Formats: sequence, C-alpha cells, structure tokens
Amino acid sequence: MSARVRALLLKYFGQSLLLCPIYFASALLALQLTRFNGGVAIVWPAGAVLFSALAAMPHRRWSAALLLCFPAGALAIGLRGFGGVHTLPLTLAGLFEAWLAASLLRRIAPRFTRFESVRDVASFLLVAGFIAPAASAFIGAWAAHGATGIPFFNAWRDWFGAHALSLVTFAPPIFLVLRRRRLDTAKFNRERLPEALILLGAVCLATLATFGQSRVPLVVVPLVPMVAATFRLGRIGAVASLLVLICGGLIGTMTGHGPTMLLHLDMATKLLVLQIYFACVVLILLPVAAELESRRRLMQNLRDAEALHRLIVERTGDVIMRVNIDGTLRSVSDAGARLWGYQAEELVGRSAYDLIHPEDEQAVFDARFQALCEPQGTVAVECRVIGKDGGSTWVESHMCATLNRRGVPNGTVSIIRDNSARRRLIENLAHEANTDPLTGLANRRAFDRALARDVAEGRDSCLALFDLDHFKRINDVHGHATGDRMLTLFATLLCGTVRAGDVVARLGGEEFGVLLRDVSLEQAGVICERVRTRLAESEGRSVVGELVRATVSVGLTRLSVDLPVEEAFRQADAALYSAKRAGRNQMAITA
Ligand code: GH3
Ligand code: MG
Ligand code: MG
Repeated sequence: MSARVRALLLKYFGQSLLLCPIYFASALLALQLTRFNGGVAIVWPAGAVLFSALAAMPHRRWSAALLLCFPAGALAIGLRGFGGVHTLPLTLAGLFEAWLAASLLRRIAPRFTRFESVRDVASFLLVAGFIAPAASAFIGAWAAHGATGIPFFNAWRDWFGAHALSLVTFAPPIFLVLRRRRLDTAKFNRERLPEALILLGAVCLATLATFGQSRVPLVVVPLVPMVAATFRLGRIGAVASLLVLICGGLIGTMTGHGPTMLLHLDMATKLLVLQIYFACVVLILLPVAAELESRRRLMQNLRDAEALHRLIVERTGDVIMRVNIDGTLRSVSDAGARLWGYQAEELVGRSAYDLIHPEDEQAVFDARFQALCEPQGTVAVECRVIGKDGGSTWVESHMCATLNRRGVPNGTVSIIRDNSARRRLIENLAHEANTDPLTGLANRRAFDRALARDVAEGRDSCLALFDLDHFKRINDVHGHATGDRMLTLFATLLCGTVRAGDVVARLGGEEFGVLLRDVSLEQAGVICERVRTRLAESEGRSVVGELVRATVSVGLTRLSVDLPVEEAFRQADAALYSAKRAGRNQMAITA
C-alpha cells in the first residue's frame, strides 16, 4: 500500500480505528455471555459504545465509524450470534439503532452537551431509551423469529427491553468518558483528591457488599455513596460511580453473586432485572448531576454578576438606587448619598419621593409606573433631587423593574447621573436664544412669543414701540461705543419705569418694544410718556466723558383677541411713524 493511500485511509478512519475492536469485543462478549436459550443477547453494550462515539464525534466522521463497525458487528454475530443469513440484518439493526439514536438526539437537542441540563437527560431518554431500540427491534425480532421460530412479539419485546436498558445504562458513562477532556476535571485537583478517593472507595465497598454475596439484597446501599459522590464531585463523580457499579454488578451477577441470585428466575430474566436496576440508578444520578451542574453554573454566573455589580457600584460616579414597590428606598450607593450630602444608611427606608423636587414628582411617578408595567424595558426621566442642604441638583435617571422569584416586579433599580452641567448648558442656550446680548433684555423672538400668549389669553395689554431719535447722529458724533452706551442707558431706564410684570425687549438697532400688561390705553400712555420725558431729562456720557443727550419717539396701540399680532405691530409702527413725522420726542397713540 502506497504511503499516500495509507495517509488517506488514516485521515478518513483516523480516530474511529479504535472503535472497531471495542465494538467487536463488546458485541462478542455480550453474545457469548448473555444469550440464553438461543435468543437475543440480554445485555448489548456495543450499541451504547457506537451511539456514544457517534454522539461525541463530528457528523462528518460518522460514515467512517459506521463502516468500521459493520465488519466488527458482522464477525461477532457470525461467530457467536444467530449467524448465517441472519448476520447481515442483525448487524444492520445494531448499526441502525445507534445511528438513529445519535441522529435524533442531534435533531431534537442540537445543543446537547454532556447531560448538563434536565432537558438533555429527557431528550436522551426519549431517543435512546425508547425510539431507537423500538425501531431496531423490528429488524432484530424479524431475524430472531426467522432464526429460532420464537413468536415475533416475544422477540421484539426481548430485543427492545435489552437494547433500551443497555443504551440507557451504558451510554451516559461511555459518552462522558469520551468527552472527558471537557469534563470539569478541576474537581479532581490535588486538594480534592483524598475526598474523591474516599467517596469512590465507598462506592467500591458498597458495590462489593451488594454484589459480592447472595444472601442479603442490599440494592439501595450503593446509592448512598453514589449520590454523595455526585453531590461532591459533580458529573465526573456520577460517571465514575456508575462505572464501578455496572462493572461490579455485571461481574458479580455473571459469577453467580448479587441480589438477583435471590430471584427464582432464569439467567436471562435476572440480567434484565439487573439492567432495570442499573437504568434506575442512571435515571436517579444523571438528572441530579445535570441539575447540580446547571446550579453550579448559575452560582458562578451569580458570583460573576455580583463582582461586576460591586465594581460598578464602587467605581462609578453614578448613583445606584434600589426602590421597593411602595416607593421606599431599599439601598443607595455611597457615592450617591455623598453627592446629595447624606449617609447611605440615613436614606434607606425613607420614601424616594422625599428626595424629589415637588414639581418633578409626577414625572418620576409616571416613569416608575411605566418601568413596573413593562419590566423588560428601561425608562429614563429627568428630575431634580433635593440635597440635605435643601439645594436641588438636576439628574437623569434610567430605571428598570426588579423581579421577584415568580417574575413579578417588586421594585425598581435606577442608575442616576448628575445632569446639572448639561441642564445649565441647555438653560444658558435657551437664555441666549431669547436675550439681546448688549442690553440683556428679551429679544424679538421672546417678545413675539409673549405677545402671542397675551393675545391668546385675551389679556388687557398694550404694545408700545420706542425708537431713539436721530440715533445715527449720536453714532456719527460720539462713535459706536457711545451709541451702545446710550442703548444700555435707555434699556435700564425702560426697565426702571415700567412695572415688574411688563415685558421689555430690544427689537433690533435702536428700537425697543414694551408689552404693558393689564392696563388701559390711557394708563399705558402715562407710562410711555414717563419714559419719554425721563430720557429727555437724563444725560449720558460718551466714552471720552462728553455729555450726550437723546430723545425717543413712541407709538402705542392696544392689543385685542380679534387683532392679529402682526396687525397690532403694524398699528404701533404707524403710530411711531406719525410721532417721528410730528417732530420726534413725542408719543402717538393708535386711534
Ligand atoms: P430716526 O430718528 O428717523 O429714527 O433716525 P435714526 O438715525 O435713529 O434712524 P436710522 O434708522 O436712520 O438709523 C439707525 C441707526 O442706529 C443706524 C445704526 O448705525 C444705529 N444702530 C443700529 N444698531 C446699533 C447698535 O447696536 N449700536 C449702535 N451704536 N448703533 C446702532
Ligand atoms: Mg429705527
Ligand atoms: Mg431711530
């Protein structure tokens, strides 16, 4: 054989080469030792060997494994089974059973790992303990019926019982041994080795006590150290104790010892009973081991999450707050308590709403309500928190519901971030957007809004437009800076003359607007007149100290619900224009 062909064969059959002699040996041994009265073998570990190997290997290597087991199975059956023409169907039935169980398991439990969850165990029991042996039993029974003439149903029942029990009993330990590299061997580290040895030693002793004599049926005794080994050592403990029990039990029974010897039955039935016993032990230990494993992982995840949580709480500048469903504080991170001037313990048990600014209480209440109603979502809310010193801080809170064991919301947890800088920025931007930078008065935009509001509300208000007279000349004579001074001087004078609730704005250039609220046109006229005369009587100073005088003309009109704002503006402007035309430094009122 050329080196190339050899390399190709090795690549294809590779790791499955070992499977062939093991399959052959287990089949031959079972046929040799567990066939009674010319019937089918009562114990069939070969099926478990092939099924476990298929389940543990990638799908692409299945054909090689099946191809190698075919001659092994045929040889064993030819030598010690029915032989003759029945060799082929019986061999195929064995291969088909293992293939079917492994295929179905891959289909219904694609994430099947290593009996790590109760779902894994249930899927395994369904396919290996029922479907696959029930299906292969039809071929097996047909061949057995043809070979020996025993009734078809009896042959089917014997095959099904033997193969189902053998698969359930032998497959899990073999499968877990095949996957041993991925088992948690850390459990057998040096520290725990003495404990592991003691526990497995106890399993050996209990097995010996049960299967080394035939007087007292101590069938439950091995369970005690086996359960202890499973609890203390996990799946590896379960597998090791199962191997001890199965090997000890089989050797004992085959050599005429053990509890089954107390039964007045033939050897075939005794072996079936023994397998039922093994299967029961597997069914007790595997789900326990699976449940323990998933709890161990859950605990690990919990510990990881706790560590992460501790780190976040300790290192973050954000406040983490848990609130009970009734609104009382369950916990507040130290950083948060300090931020607001409290000790964390002072806050626990108090109502969270004690810390919220009264104006924001409703928003926070609504946000909590939403978080509790939609536990899978997160809700954000901005509010002010009142510190111990009475001052308030703007914060942004993201909250979600916490759930109790039954998944029902029992409170909220919030991550709260100091938001005052951002809030100040927003307030500054809003202020700038509505303010005239030179005089600090409202600008045109803010004035229009106030005007529209007053009109909509139907308030008794008047609109006055002021325009400084010959202002260009002031600029020309004294310079722009002095012009600015005069604008500021007039702005101050305006604010000092009108009432607190009135709105004063610089509308642009040397034009100002005043919204005089809740006054008649006459009263407004008196106020505007006062502004005009005060300016005429006051003196400003130029940047170089010269005296500067200015006068102003005023146009006044009344606002009304029926009058659109633009129209009111137009009227006031017309009045102002007529005051200018009439010689300036005077007031005109819309008729
Ligand atoms: P009138 O009596 O007809 O209102 O004459 P006026 O010179 O006041 O009117 P005009 O509209 O011809 O000129 C307005 C001047 O206001 C022109 C401009 O240089 C000046 N002005 C506009 N905005 C500013 C400002 O922010 N600062 C200064 N210093 N001057 C301004
Ligand atoms: Mg003007
Ligand atoms: Mg002017």
